[in-house]
Amino acid sequence: MGELRSSVSASPGVPRGEALLHDPLLNKGTAFTAAERDALGLRGLLPPNVHTMEEQLARVLDNYRHKTTDLERYIHLVSLQDRNETLFYRLVTDHVEEMMPIIYTPTVGQACQQWGHLFRRPRGLYVSYEDRGRVADLLRAWPQPDVRVIVVTDGERILGLGDQGVGGMGIPVGKLSLYTACAGIAPARTLPIMLDVGTENEGYRRDPLYLGLRHHRVRGEPYDAFLAEFVEAVQAVMPRALLQFEDFGNQNAFRLLERWRDRVCTFNDDIQGTAAVTLAGIYSALRLTGQELRDQTVLFLGAGEAGVGIGELVASAMVDEGAAPEEARRRCWFVDTRGLVVRSRTDLAVHKLRFAHDAPPQADLLSAIRALRPTALVGVSTKPRAFTQEVVEEMSRLNPRPMIFALSNPTSKAECTAEEAYRWSGGRCVFASGSPFPPCVLDGRTFVPGQGNNAYIFPGVGLGVVATQARHVTDRMFAAAARTLASLVREDDLAVGRIFPALARIREVSARIGAAVAEVAFQDGLAGVPRPPDVAALVKGAMWEPRYRSYV
Ligand code: NAD
Repeated sequence: MGELRSSVSASPGVPRGEALLHDPLLNKGTAFTAAERDALGLRGLLPPNVHTMEEQLARVLDNYRHKTTDLERYIHLVSLQDRNETLFYRLVTDHVEEMMPIIYTPTVGQACQQWGHLFRRPRGLYVSYEDRGRVADLLRAWPQPDVRVIVVTDGERILGLGDQGVGGMGIPVGKLSLYTACAGIAPARTLPIMLDVGTENEGYRRDPLYLGLRHHRVRGEPYDAFLAEFVEAVQAVMPRALLQFEDFGNQNAFRLLERWRDRVCTFNDDIQGTAAVTLAGIYSALRLTGQELRDQTVLFLGAGEAGVGIGELVASAMVDEGAAPEEARRRCWFVDTRGLVVRSRTDLAVHKLRFAHDAPPQADLLSAIRALRPTALVGVSTKPRAFTQEVVEEMSRLNPRPMIFALSNPTSKAECTAEEAYRWSGGRCVFASGSPFPPCVLDGRTFVPGQGNNAYIFPGVGLGVVATQARHVTDRMFAAAARTLASLVREDDLAVGRIFPALARIREVSARIGAAVAEVAFQDGLAGVPRPPDVAALVKGAMWEPRYRSYV
């Protein structure tokens, strides 16, 4: 039987019938109009009632709210994304506070751990070590012609959960969803990539449903050659793409950043994005304490990517305020698994050396606090419960308003809970966490803990870079992002202890950060487009909106 004929013609390039319903970038499901159904060969393939996007949203939200576990909510949302991206992004944008912890940390961590068991449809590009020598061919086979943001991982250090092998793909997928939901990077312009080089996780290697390579991780020169082939292939095939490294083990993350940051358009969110969001938190906290940044002493528990990244950016912000570089670095101290990082130690990894000061050794966090009298304590150790009652009480004895940031993710790894920090400090601390904590009430006062979520920073930075086609991503851009984020915190946020803006404002926040980053790109001669009269309008105009467009 022939296809039903229509007098209305379809927009060029739009697939027809089944193919259209199975294209998540174009599918509108029950929202295809009568004219579109006729013109695109959809009549009969959909139930007769045409729904508005609002009606579709009511249905998917109702289904979502009937799920009983976060993992089921995750599966529900990813399945919607695989069917209809426009509806998915409208849903997530409208309910960003509720859904961000599902599509990203903490729930995404559970999804990574069960990747082989939950797997339904592939998303993104899987490039395995077996593909070496033809990585550019794999990139060329990607169907979208104009990729602007790539998030890539090798799955070695996923959140605070360690080596997840190929299951680490959950992170680039989730992170790019946030680029779109928070900053309007068009979904067709995003590409999640998993570089599978094996895993040290023996449980996965033995799991019959595991989906990745079942050998130990490739290391050393072969690993570096594979990564170099990958970065060069991206330059050749997708030259306009921003390449974000994500959740690499720290022995590789620092090296990769150093090797590529001045050669391609790249950054590492774990190092630089975390640094910017934490610096913004410190700036906001200073509005509460009435102090200056350059007078702070920051003690970090954990000297990995997050900690050292934050230390570098905090020190450079102190230098911007007039401190000498050496003096600024001496205001940042680290405790790692072997105690205080000091110069006399002989066991320090290279990335810790810049913060190894001349000082007597201290065996643990509490003795380091007593010796250094820090004003801020930043937990980036992945060690749950490391901020004990004694630790918080000591910080509160030393400071009228101590900053206590328990940033380790997911929630189970946090150095302390919000409730503990407020209770043990008698409600005096300024608290921030990595994963969300609910508000808590202490002696009749309500405290709203701030979530130092990297999603405040990286989508806006990416937007500014994409809108200006910047050649590099620089520390000056991250510093500008941090200042902008802090400036958007309102007095009523601060009044309840919240040192970040409400997540519901995230698109406005990203647009403002994007404009600040774009300004830096123009000022520093890094932009690939001419400076327009209105930089903020350029950035806003680059934001994709989750709205249906007509195909007839
Ligand atoms: P990493 O593996 O690079 O570093 C962790 C560091 O903590 C390592 O140096 C390790 O030696 C040290 N460590 C482990 N156990 C310790 C202990 N008992 N005492 C002291 N130090 C200890 O990881 P990372 O990228 O630096 O991330 C660390 C944590 O911070 C993770 O849980 C991550 O999820 C979290 N994080 C949060 C944010 C955020 O809140 N926005 C951003 C990035 C990372």
